[in-house]
Amino acid sequence: MARLEECYQLAETRFERQFPRPLVELDLRGQRAGVAYLQRNLLRFNAQMYRDHSEDFLQQTVPHEAAHLIAHHLFGLAIRPHGPEWQSIMVGLFKLPAQRYHDYPVKRRGTRYLYRCQCADNIPFTPQRHAWVSRGRQYQCRRCGDLLHFTGQQAILN
Ligand SMILES: [Zn+2]
Ligand SMILES: [Zn+2]
Repeated sequence: MARLEECYQLAETRFERQFPRPLVELDLRGQRAGVAYLQRNLLRFNAQMYRDHSEDFLQQTVPHEAAHLIAHHLFGLAIRPHGPEWQSIMVGLFKLPAQRYHDYPVKRRGTRYLYRCQCADNIPFTPQRHAWVSRGRQYQCRRCGDLLHFTGQQAILN
């Protein structure tokens, strides 16, 4: 919210007008880092991506989405989302690269099979690796040299 406010204050100083602050929700999931809803003056952000990439998220994603709303207030609906108006806010005002997409690697989610050895519990194996073990492949701990054994437990990564 502080980063967003910083963006809005820059815009208010530059354009010598006020901009209504958007509603902010952190409930976006999946591949997208943020979405701007122009007519609802709403920003939705992906809380998981924020946790995973906080620095870049604050540096780039928050201003990216804020610039969509600010461009909308300034220029209305007849502009392209990442056209020259939006770009001029990103580059000219925020001094940021006008990247169209938020390029975050999405972590693989899903089931993990938990293994253990003498020195560690709950070592996560992917389903693929677990399947290889059940076909006879063995994995050894690099620290203690013990073979890794399935604990019978699974976990869901998220
Ligand atoms: Zn965008
Ligand atoms: Zn070990």
